[in-house]
Amino acid sequence: MREVLTTCVYCGCGCGVYLREEGGRVVGATASRNHPVSRGNLCVKGWHLHEFIHDPARLTTPLLRKNGTLTPVSWDEALDYTTAALGRLKADHGPDSLGVLASAKCTNEENYLLQKFTRAVLGTNNIDHCARL
Ligand code: SF4
Repeated sequence: MREVLTTCVYCGCGCGVYLREEGGRVVGATASRNHPVSRGNLCVKGWHLHEFIHDPARLTTPLLRKNGTLTPVSWDEALDYTTAALGRLKADHGPDSLGVLASAKCTNEENYLLQKFTRAVLGTNNIDHCARL
């Protein structure tokens, strides 16, 4: 078994966590006691950080609803669909009919790009963050 120090991916706090690897699989997570951010503490999400990695229900591809059924599609198909749908909604109902929720799982840079996309491309100020849901 070996432990690898990394950063929790669940929110922007950036807690330090050791992931335990055994036989090519990630099998556990423990707090880094001397990490400057978390100092040995993790919230419940951090303690369960490893569980999604090998979960068979993990989403690994975009899904589109086709004939009432969520269907795996390629990223190109998903992005083409989304681009067309956003353009259609904006044309039919105006830019303020759209809104975007940013994510604590994104980096600062990704969230910055998201607000630029919302304001400059979609043309609305309707952007918020999951922390205020
Ligand atoms: S352990 Fe909890 S508070 Fe720390 S980064 Fe992960 S989700 Fe955020």
